[in-house]
Amino acid sequence: MKITILGSGSAYGVPFAGGGWGACDPKQPRNRRTTPSIFIDDGKTTLLVDMGPDFKEQIARHNISKFDAIFFTHPHADHIAGMFHLPILMYHRNGVNLPMYVDRATRRDIEKVWWYMFDPSIALEYTGTARPFWREMLPPEKMQIGTLDIQTFWQQHGRIKSVGLRVGNFAYSTDVNDFPPESEEHLYGLDYWVVDCNCLTNTDKSHSYVEKSVAWAQKFKPKKTYLTHLDYTIDYDSVSKMLPAGVELAYDGLTIEL
Ligand SMILES: [Zn+2]
Ligand SMILES: [Zn+2]
Repeated sequence: MKITILGSGSAYGVPFAGGGWGACDPKQPRNRRTTPSIFIDDGKTTLLVDMGPDFKEQIARHNISKFDAIFFTHPHADHIAGMFHLPILMYHRNGVNLPMYVDRATRRDIEKVWWYMFDPSIALEYTGTARPFWREMLPPEKMQIGTLDIQTFWQQHGRIKSVGLRVGNFAYSTDVNDFPPESEEHLYGLDYWVVDCNCLTNTDKSHSYVEKSVAWAQKFKPKKTYLTHLDYTIDYDSVSKMLPAGVELAYDGLTIEL
């Protein structure tokens, strides 16, 4: 199984709109970060996790022309704004319908903004013959997406919840500031864990920061932890030096093989 970090940035990316790099050195290519998303490919099934505003550029960089399903972790714009591109994707799917895995709140918010893609009286003209369809998730649950065995679990993300996912000994925990006790069992015994670390210090209550994410890594003890959803306060070289063995910063284009 191969996992590609399509985007390792926080909601506004680095540099953010208007060109701000914050503490990040513009000369370090790993500081250039697009919005958070990963791509999972086990050779038989391909799964896109989140579809943010940089989606089109991200899949172009990696020559990804299609995928079997989309998994949305939660309805914030940096995770769903790529929905704009859905009609053209559907048009080129040769009639193959596209399952979209969501919790109820995410489905509601996506349908509010992109209602025209789901109105049966008009959707066909936007989507060609292939249709998107919802698969509602109610974590914690075991699911099969093609050949991928997935375990979902809830994560606290400020006032809302996001969905974490585990596939084998890999887990993805973007957008989280706390784990409910019942989710913790899914975080032990990992080979790789990609987890939120939005800021250098505790400045955003709906996300994690360096000290907290490192403490999580020391608690759950995955063999390797990659920090993601990184904002302009996280300079790749200077923060990398602060991290203990086994914890590293993710970057756009990083691949993990299991
Ligand atoms: Zn986010
Ligand atoms: Zn979020």
